[in-house]
Amino acid sequence: MADFMKAMVCRGPNAYGLEDVPAPKILEPGDVIGRVLLASISGADLAIVRGGIPEIRYPLIPGHEFCVEIVETGPAVKKLKVGDRVVVSCVACCGECWYCRQGLSARCQKAGYGAFGMRGPEGCQAEFVRIPGADVYCFKFPESLTPKDVLFCGDVLSAGYFAAEMAEIQCGETVVVVGAGPVGLCAMTTARLWSPSRIIAVDTSPFRLEAALKAGVADLALDPAKDNVLEAIRELTGGFGADRTIECAGRQITFDIAFSAVRGGGKISTVGIYEKPLSLPLNTAWGTNISLSWGFAPIDRLPGLIRLIEEGRINAAFLCTHQVPLNDILRGYEIFGSRKENCLKMLITPWER
Ligand SMILES: [Zn+2]
Repeated sequence: MADFMKAMVCRGPNAYGLEDVPAPKILEPGDVIGRVLLASISGADLAIVRGGIPEIRYPLIPGHEFCVEIVETGPAVKKLKVGDRVVVSCVACCGECWYCRQGLSARCQKAGYGAFGMRGPEGCQAEFVRIPGADVYCFKFPESLTPKDVLFCGDVLSAGYFAAEMAEIQCGETVVVVGAGPVGLCAMTTARLWSPSRIIAVDTSPFRLEAALKAGVADLALDPAKDNVLEAIRELTGGFGADRTIECAGRQITFDIAFSAVRGGGKISTVGIYEKPLSLPLNTAWGTNISLSWGFAPIDRLPGLIRLIEEGRINAAFLCTHQVPLNDILRGYEIFGSRKENCLKMLITPWER
């Protein structure tokens, strides 16, 4: 392996670009080095390069949604070998600390672990990446699948699935998903596994709503800028409201819709990234027996998601609207960041020499 590699480096708010940096090396016995096969740019990456996440320490290599081919393994690695193609959880977790043993991998307390390209190891927007404790959260994918098929398992698909799972959908119910970004679209994709009678997508982007209908992950689309969303949902449900609402945007307005659209005794699940505190209408909702769940997807859903994709039960490939090689990652950030060109997901393919 070469001593240097190309990587996207962010040195501070709005100070970022491609650089030649030292290639990662095995530092601990449980490490592997992976050659990045496919990565993505996410909304969190945009916030990092723009300085929107105050606790971030710079410089760093961003990126946390990725697949690699393993090119080197440390002496303590047992399950993985050179040549394996794996999808990696967006959060590095040790599997041994108290939180990891409770299944709360996102709370892993081990130093140097945590979300790739944020608080944990260096991220994946590079040619190579060091993956500490890799046995715990790297999952092989079968020959029949491509990196594009499984890329989202490590982040947005896990999040969307977890949102649908927390909603506890019962057969024949009406599910409303508020926010049709990548996580919301993944929540719709996986909500079908619980056999609801209908899935309703709510968003103000006509393109996202169209994508949901075209992919068949939603049966109906409502745009709060044009439609009376609450009235439409009540009309469809005999005046009751949705059985389950899934909030995937993290804004006050989307939360208000999720809360107002659910019927008494229904359930709200939420996996939005909340940039500031939100207020809940507890004064009006206290007598309605609505329940609410939220949280970060644990890593143990990942192998099941790979199997569901392999069996053709779920398919999130419709999110792959754009891709650029690592050489053009700045253009990728520009397109994804400006929300131009109707970009759902921006994929980063390997450096082209
Ligand atoms: Zn841990």
